[in-house]
Amino acid sequence: MTAYDSLILDYDGVLVTVLDSDARTEACWRAVDAVEPAGLAPDRDIVTTLASSVSPETVRELSDDLGVSSETLWRFRDNMLARVLTDAAVDGQKRPYPDIDSLAALSEVPLAIASNNQRRVVEHILDEYEFADAFETVHAREPCLDSLALKKPEPTFLERAREDIGTRNPLYVGDKEKDIVAAQRAGMDVAFMRRDHNRTRSLETTPTHSVTDLDEVVGLVTESVPPT
Ligand SMILES: [Mg+2]
Repeated sequence: MTAYDSLILDYDGVLVTVLDSDARTEACWRAVDAVEPAGLAPDRDIVTTLASSVSPETVRELSDDLGVSSETLWRFRDNMLARVLTDAAVDGQKRPYPDIDSLAALSEVPLAIASNNQRRVVEHILDEYEFADAFETVHAREPCLDSLALKKPEPTFLERAREDIGTRNPLYVGDKEKDIVAAQRAGMDVAFMRRDHNRTRSLETTPTHSVTDLDEVVGLVTESVPPT
């Protein structure tokens, strides 16, 4: 095995806890009035759909039903989620896993983030918990419809992170099948993280490694370095 010279990490479910879908939907519904643009009146079914991962096709169908542009609807959706997720960070519902401290052992190894979440959400929570300085670069979505085409399983965010940190053999860590596929497309080894929220998820793709916490990830990196 070639030594890993850097670590690129997914965000939700790897570095910070995930909001379960019911809590997320309820929080979105409560946030509608605060972020709703004039003339857009989404009902509960629409908010429930938008609270989860949504395809561009679904956004277009919903925006046709509402008589607004898909960009307007998407801006509403991303604003709603940004508000919900940053509020969840402030009140402690969404927070770094305690084992994030173990990454301090990799002080000589560049760390990066490649996430399908919005950049502003990722950076807000990193700032809120004072972890922003630990990561050299963050690649995540900007709040526009075009950004959906860049999401994993596309390798774009991973490739951009690797380019930024200028390393040759990063290890990627993710908690979804699409993370494994994105890493494979980028030509990177990948560690699949199993935590409580995805402990029993079945996979159709085989990751390079399987881990249960960030301590194990640190072990993979340090043990890959040949003795000098
Ligand atoms: Mg994730």
